[in-house]
Amino acid sequence: MMKAAMLTAPGRIEIREVPDKPLRADTDVRIRIDFGGICGSDLHYFRTGRIGEQVVAGPLVVGHECTGTVLETGKAVTAVRPGERVAVEPAVSCGRCDQCRTGRPNTCRRVQFMGCPGQLDGALVENIVMPETNCLPLPPELSSGTAVFSEPVSIALYAWRFLKGLDIRTVGILGAGPIGLAVLMAARERAGVRALVTDPLDARLSAAKALGADWTAGPQETDVPDAPEEFDAVFECCGREEAIARAARLLKPGGHLVIVGIPETEFFRIDLHGLRRDEITLYNVRRQNGCLEEAIGLCTRRRKEIDGLITHSFPLDAAQQAFDLAEGYRDGVIKSVIRMQG
Ligand SMILES: [Zn+2]
Ligand SMILES: [Zn+2]
Repeated sequence: MMKAAMLTAPGRIEIREVPDKPLRADTDVRIRIDFGGICGSDLHYFRTGRIGEQVVAGPLVVGHECTGTVLETGKAVTAVRPGERVAVEPAVSCGRCDQCRTGRPNTCRRVQFMGCPGQLDGALVENIVMPETNCLPLPPELSSGTAVFSEPVSIALYAWRFLKGLDIRTVGILGAGPIGLAVLMAARERAGVRALVTDPLDARLSAAKALGADWTAGPQETDVPDAPEEFDAVFECCGREEAIARAARLLKPGGHLVIVGIPETEFFRIDLHGLRRDEITLYNVRRQNGCLEEAIGLCTRRRKEIDGLITHSFPLDAAQQAFDLAEGYRDGVIKSVIRMQG
């Protein structure tokens, strides 16, 4: 048996014993989890017990951002060796459906995601078993604690990929949580791109400034000094209805709206006429597709900056406190991680 952090009711995390899992295939890898991150989507389940149609029906091992150490490998595994440190891609795709066969494993018809009800157990457990293709080795310079941030960074890099080949000079980033800040870091990797970041929390705007945001503002604040009136692209990174409206106001005609945030409510009212008149292109970002390796590279180059974003860490036994803190946006929290090894 091993210990796991389980969501047992909205707002309640309990540490319970769960059975060890066997390796199911020759290509499976057993990983000892070293660090697990708490993500906005975990907080959705924590707060409301659901994301859209995915509803938590019974106790759920939570979490999907994790790094660990390989303990055991199936006979056919060649990608990793026991003792190696890895980041884990939390989505297991089938490899056979039309989506997988056309290079879209992130919209796989049978995708199984860690810490999603009815799919895979989450990351906040002592050991997990994953296919070797979900395990990416970490370079020696990148600590396992810092590397937890590679999962949100992979989503940011994937969001940017929708704008590939376009002449993007100015971007708005609405929401400065870990995803918004990761989108900002990805912007910093592109020469000549200038970024406005908005968020209601001063601590997060300070973090955005420290990462090199050109302008920061509150979500309602208009007339940001020296900022352009119109932007080439806006990344919605907070899942709020007002943010879509603000994005529409910030974008120039022909602009690009990239929706990364998970909507807080089931339906949004959006000004489709405004978006239509200005011929705004909308992109929906479903997690990420093949960007984890590049994300590990970015995390390695920017590891000092990322360490500044990992504001809190807790042992597994204090998982409830970690979730309460993240849920309450208290104490300047940006990314909170669980140290699985104490
Ligand atoms: Zn996440
Ligand atoms: Zn598939």
